[in-house]
Amino acid sequence: MSDPAARAGAILSIDLAALCANWRVLADRVGPRSQAAAVVKADAYGLGAAHVAPALLAAGCRRFVVATLDEGIALRPLLPGADILILSGPLPGGEADFHAYGLLPVLNSPEQIAGWAAFARSSGERLAAVLHVDTGMSRLGLRLSEVRALAEDRETLSAIDLKLIMSHLACADEVGHPLNRRQLENFNAARASFPDLPGSLAASSGIFLGADWHADWVRPGAALYGVNPLPGRPNPMRQVVRLQGRILQVRDVDAGDTVGYGATHRCTAPTRLAIVAAGYADGLFRSLGNRGCGQLGEIRVPLIGRVSMDLTIFDVGAVPQTLARPGAVIDLIGPANDVDAVAQAAGTIGYEVLTALSPRYCRTYVGEALQ
Ligand SMILES: *Cc1c(COP(=O)(O)O)cnc(C)c1O
Repeated sequence: MSDPAARAGAILSIDLAALCANWRVLADRVGPRSQAAAVVKADAYGLGAAHVAPALLAAGCRRFVVATLDEGIALRPLLPGADILILSGPLPGGEADFHAYGLLPVLNSPEQIAGWAAFARSSGERLAAVLHVDTGMSRLGLRLSEVRALAEDRETLSAIDLKLIMSHLACADEVGHPLNRRQLENFNAARASFPDLPGSLAASSGIFLGADWHADWVRPGAALYGVNPLPGRPNPMRQVVRLQGRILQVRDVDAGDTVGYGATHRCTAPTRLAIVAAGYADGLFRSLGNRGCGQLGEIRVPLIGRVSMDLTIFDVGAVPQTLARPGAVIDLIGPANDVDAVAQAAGTIGYEVLTALSPRYCRTYVGEALQ
């Protein structure tokens, strides 16, 4: 069989050295009083948790966060000795799996707390868990009044070994947003009920709000993968992904020719088009049609017409023919058009660009993990 990368229509390269360097930058920024976990939910934001999580473990990360029980079960054998937090917590009756696989449930509601306490009593052990407080997002987590009530509930607390109290910021990417300070105050009020418990509030952007928000653990996700935690300001993170689409065909078009489904682009002058082997089935958003761009060598090439399921069309009239030829690759995400730039062109955020990356790409992992 030939080399999969050489025959693939599109190649997704994931730089594990850049990933680990990003984790180290964030860990150093909050250290030594606080420590950095790594959020690897949604298959490590689409980059492959089975590669990403062990690389971060080797780099020194000892606490990992996923959204669902199944994500945690898949990672458990790959992360010996590390904590794995499950953000969604147990569904009713689902407690036994958390215990069997050694996963830490995040308890988000009085019902989940009661379920975990009942399971602990029936198993005859005091069982570890994380307490989640809602401080102003109205998503998961206990209300402040419920936190105070729990602090008085000796029977429940005798069954649960709380390891951490956490909350999540709604507006951390807007540095001046008043909710950031209010959520911090609410979080500190909740912590007053559990003064001995370590705390965790900040995700990627929250780390950059300042030391007041760092508490004992921070939980970055997106910034590890190169998404800018400071929208509108220079990106302090290294790029981790590069997505290259292969040119299948280069064709000449005349003035007046239309391009792609719906004929949404009409050429105003003769030019050359490159037809690239990646489309919306690969996670290239249809909203990039007539708005996105690729990069071929030094030259930015406009994406024209609609994105099809398996194909995308670029105007390569400005590119020397020796570069724009079948078999050559165009950067769909790369150093000159990074995840955030692609997201902006598509009208979304870097998070969604990454998590949309499809399994059809040939994935290559480059850069040895830092030890
Ligand atoms: C997804 C998530 C994170 C990570 O957020 P980023 O913005 O990607 O750093 C942290 N905590 C919770 C509760 C989350 O849901």
